[in-house]
Amino acid sequence: MIWYPYEQMKGMKAPYEIIDAEGVYLYTKDQKLIDSVSSWWCMIHGYKNKEINEVIKNQLDKFAHVMLGGLTHEAAAKLSDKLKEWLPGDLDYCFYSDSGSVGVEVALKMALQYYVNAGNLNKTKVLALTHAYHGDTFKAMEVGDDEDYHFVLEAYGEKKNCIHIPTEIPALEEAFEKYHQELNCFIVEPLLQGAGGMRMYGLDFLKRARKLCDEYDVLLIFDEVATGFGRTGYRFVSDEVLPDILVLGKALTGGYIGHAVTVANHKVYNGFYSDNPSHALMHGPTFMGNALACSAALKSIELFEKGNYLKRIRELEKIMISEMQGFSDPRIADIRIMGGCICIEVKEEETLKGYQEYAYKNGVFARPFLKYLYAMIPYIITEPELIRILDTMKQWFVKENPV
Ligand SMILES: *Cc1c(COP(=O)(O)O)cnc(C)c1O
Repeated sequence: MIWYPYEQMKGMKAPYEIIDAEGVYLYTKDQKLIDSVSSWWCMIHGYKNKEINEVIKNQLDKFAHVMLGGLTHEAAAKLSDKLKEWLPGDLDYCFYSDSGSVGVEVALKMALQYYVNAGNLNKTKVLALTHAYHGDTFKAMEVGDDEDYHFVLEAYGEKKNCIHIPTEIPALEEAFEKYHQELNCFIVEPLLQGAGGMRMYGLDFLKRARKLCDEYDVLLIFDEVATGFGRTGYRFVSDEVLPDILVLGKALTGGYIGHAVTVANHKVYNGFYSDNPSHALMHGPTFMGNALACSAALKSIELFEKGNYLKRIRELEKIMISEMQGFSDPRIADIRIMGGCICIEVKEEETLKGYQEYAYKNGVFARPFLKYLYAMIPYIITEPELIRILDTMKQWFVKENPV
C-alpha cells in the first residue's frame, strides 16, 4: 500500500487516479483536467512530449543507467558541456544527483568542506531565509524554515548551525556583520520562495547579498530547483546575480525523470582540487548522471531554447496580470504574480477548503496548501487554458462562495 506524501493517512481523501496524460491535460476515468501545478512545478513542456519521449526511448535501447563511479557516458558528458556553456559566469562544474533535496545537501556539504579544506574550522554555520524550503532531507530541513518540520527541533533541541533572516536588507547586513566569521554560506531560493508560500522579493536584496558574500568571504548558494528554467520570468535568477553554487532540479529533465545538478564555480571547485585525497568531495548517489535523465534534460533544454520560452512566459505573465486586474475579495490577503507563477493568499485557510473538488468539477487540477491558492503553469499552456484556470480561481470566490 502506498504511503502518500504530506498527508495524515487516517481519513485521507482518495487521490485522483490518472490513467493518461498529454500536453497540459491529465485524464482520470471520468474527467479531463488542466494540470495547473505542472506535477509539482516540473512538467514545463507538458506530458507525453514526443521529442522527449523519443530521446528517452533511444537511450533506453542503449542502456538505462550506468554508475558514474569509474564509468562515464555520452549523455552525462553532453549535459555537463551544455550546462557549462549555457549557465552564466563560471558555473562550470556539474555534480549530478537524483533529486533536488540531495542536490541541496551536496551544495551545503560543498560549502562546509570548502572552508574545512582551506583549514578554516570556524565556518560551520549557514545563513538562510525565514519561510525557506530546500527539501525534505535532514540538512535541507534544518536550513529550511517550514513549520511542519519544527517537530525535529523539538526532538533534537535548538538549531545551532543555521540562522534565519527575513528578505530585508538591514537584517541581511546585520547578520553578516554579526556572524560572518562562522558562516560558510548563504542559501536562498532567489526571488520566489515556493513551498514557503510563493513569497516574492526583489533583485536588490540578492545584489546586496552578493556584495556582502564577497566582502566577508561567504559562499552564495542559489537553490533554483523551483525557480530555474524560467519560472520567475528570468531563465535563471543566476543570470541576474551570480551565485558560487547553483542547484537545479524539478524542470531540469522537463519533469520526465527525477534528477538534479549542483553546479560549482571555479573558486569552489579549486577548493577541492589538490594533491590531498581527503580534499575530495565524498558524495556519490547511486543514480547520479542517470542516462535516461541526462538525455531528457538535454532535449528539454533544446526545447526551451527553440521554443523561445522566455518570451512565452512573459506573455503568460501578462495574461495573468490583466485577468486578475480589478479582482478582489475581502477574504483575500494578497495576489502575487511572477513569471509562470500566480498565488492568491487568503486570510483564513478555511476559505480554500473544498477548492480542489470544485476545480476538479471545472476541469482543473489544483492543490492549494495552507493559505495559498496557486498555479505553476506548464509553459505550453494556451491562453484559453490559462484563462480557464484563472476563472476557476475567481469563480470560487464570486459564484461558489459569494460573501
Ligand atoms: C522541490 C524543492 C526542493 C526539493 O526537491 P526534491 O526533488 O523534491 O527533493 C528543493 N528546493 C526547492 C526550492 C524546491 O522547490
